[in-house]
Amino acid sequence: MKKGILTVISGFSGVGKGTLIRELLARHPEQYALSVSVTTREPRDGEVNGVNYHFISDEEFRSMIYREQLLEYAGYVGHYYGTPKQFVEENLACGRDVILEIEVQGALKVKEIHPETLMIFIVPPSFETLKQRLIGRGTEDAATIEERLKRASEEAENLESYDYALTNDVLEESTERLHRLIQSSKEAVKYKQKELDALRAQIQNYHA
Ligand code: ADP
Ligand code: 5GP
Repeated sequence: MKKGILTVISGFSGVGKGTLIRELLARHPEQYALSVSVTTREPRDGEVNGVNYHFISDEEFRSMIYREQLLEYAGYVGHYYGTPKQFVEENLACGRDVILEIEVQGALKVKEIHPETLMIFIVPPSFETLKQRLIGRGTEDAATIEERLKRASEEAENLESYDYALTNDVLEESTERLHRLIQSSKEAVKYKQKELDALRAQIQNYHA
C-alpha cells in the first residue's frame, strides 16, 4: 500500500482555512483525513468536541506532552494547540492524505520531523478582506481580533519554509486548486522515488 502525503495548511486567522478544508473533505471524503488537534481554548458556539478540536485542560495537555503523544504543539494567543501523533501516523500508513491545519511554529516542527511534508500557506485576496472575514465570522471580540491580526503580521515574517501560497478568493475555485496542488505534489514525490529506486537498482547491478 502506498503511503499518503502529509500536508500542512497554515494561514492567518480568518483567511478561511477551516472553510476550505471542510469543502475539500466534503468533495473528496475517501482521499483525505483531517487531523483533529487538541486545544486548551474554549469551544466557540457551534464547535463540537472531537470534531473541530478535542477540547482539553492545561493539565491534560501537559500530560500528552509528557507521554510524547503530540507530533508538535505551540502556543497561540493565550492557548495551547497540538497534533496527536497516532492519528497522523496511522492514516498516512494506510494511504490517506493527511491534512494538518496548524500555525507557523508547529508547521516548522512538522517539517523538521517529516521533511517530505507539503507546506501550503493560505493567503487572503487582501489584508482588508482578511479583517472583514475575521469580523464577519463574529466569534471573537474586538481585542482578540486585534491580537490575531497582530499575530498575522508576525507570522508574515516567517513564511520561507512554505512551498506554496494559495489565495482563498472564490471558495469553489480555491478548493479545486488546493486539491490539484496536493495531488500533483504527491505525483511528483512518487515519480522522484520511482526514478531514484530505478537508478539505485542499476548501480547495485553494476557492482554485483
Ligand atoms: P480560519 O479557519 O482561517 O480562521 P474560517 O474558515 O473560520 O477561517 O473563515 C473565516 C470567515 O470567512 C468565515 O465567516 C467564512 O465563512 C468566511 N470565508 C471563508 N472562505 C471564504 C471565501 N472564499 N469567500 C468569502 N468568505 C469566506
Ligand atoms: P483557532 O483558535 O482559530 O481555531 O486556531 C488558532 C490557530 O491555531 C490557527 O492558526 C490554527 O491553524 C492553529 N492550530 C490549530 N490546531 C493546531 C495544532 O494542533 N498545532 C498548532 N501548532 N497550531 C494549531
